[in-house]
Amino acid sequence: MSRPIQALIDLSALEHNLSVVRRYAPRSRVMAVIKADAYGHGLLRAAEALKRAEGFAMLEIDAAVRLREAGYRQAILLLEGFFAMEELAWIEQYHLSTVVHHHEQLAMLSAYRPRGGRLDVFLKLNTGMNRLGFTLEQFSAALETLKANPAIGQITLMTHFSRADESDGNESIAAQLQRFNAVAKGRNLPCSLANSAAILRYPETHADWVRPGIMLYGASPLPDKTADELDLHPAMTISSRIIAVQALKSGDGVGYGHMFRADRPMRVGIVAGGYADGYPRHAPAGTPVLVNGRRTRLIGRISMDMLHVDLSGIEDAGIGSPVTLWGKGLSVDEVAQSAGTVSYELLCALAPRMPIVT
Ligand SMILES: *Cc1c(COP(=O)(O)O)cnc(C)c1O
Repeated sequence: MSRPIQALIDLSALEHNLSVVRRYAPRSRVMAVIKADAYGHGLLRAAEALKRAEGFAMLEIDAAVRLREAGYRQAILLLEGFFAMEELAWIEQYHLSTVVHHHEQLAMLSAYRPRGGRLDVFLKLNTGMNRLGFTLEQFSAALETLKANPAIGQITLMTHFSRADESDGNESIAAQLQRFNAVAKGRNLPCSLANSAAILRYPETHADWVRPGIMLYGASPLPDKTADELDLHPAMTISSRIIAVQALKSGDGVGYGHMFRADRPMRVGIVAGGYADGYPRHAPAGTPVLVNGRRTRLIGRISMDMLHVDLSGIEDAGIGSPVTLWGKGLSVDEVAQSAGTVSYELLCALAPRMPIVT
């Protein structure tokens, strides 16, 4: 038996969460976002579970090529587009779709001589996020440049929201949507705007393609709604076991810096799992953990390979007892919030040494 920590990926949860996307956006095609190794779930593993999506989106061209070579026939979109001329031949050869968000990319496209194919592009409009995309003023010229380019096939218009997750983001979304619609109107081109939060909160943004990421993995993008309330199932469960038990006397400290001190006699479980596995080092004492399926709390400082949990009131817990760090029974959102971050970061930060099982 090896070190007991592992990430269990629930493929049926991914499939279920895709069906939740469809429930919210029944008239849109789904571009499943599988960037960052499918938010830590594994690119090909996630793609197989999400194979009914009409498209996949990511940033890494090597991942896109791997997906195509694995036999997926649907659209595969590069969310940051390409960075150098050489990539265009790959984009053509593997029939990838690319975002176009700045003038240098337009210039490279104009200089590209295709070998018989055409490149499908998502023309990105900056409607207020101020990260990627053409301004409203630049947009028409960019679109005309693409339309005049014989190397270009399908053009889709796209933007991204900056405040779709916030409960008071309505005005910001309305403003971005209005700017988008003002230039998209009458162009008769497919459009794509919504990430997970917008899919859940703003049906008026769904358009032709929605781009869900985090909700597919069963975490909530909305601070005021839990994944449970949204009927999203956790796709990743990090489980481990207790590998040692310490009986503390009142006044004893635990771990580096003795960050926790017992104020009474108590039992502490030492869990195989630390920041070198991807558990957030900044998770403070009190962060929830499941032991034997029951909620308890983290105590002391997270080590590279271990962490400590309070076994008070869990009399039946001992060496070998199962521990859940997040996933089924303990939402990754709750752990993330306690650690001062978001589920996205925890899911993406799984360490390479973490065994992944399905
Ligand atoms: C990551 C990303 C998404 C998915 O966002 P979620 O919040 O995970 O749903 C959608 N669109 C773009 C452009 C992205 O970069």
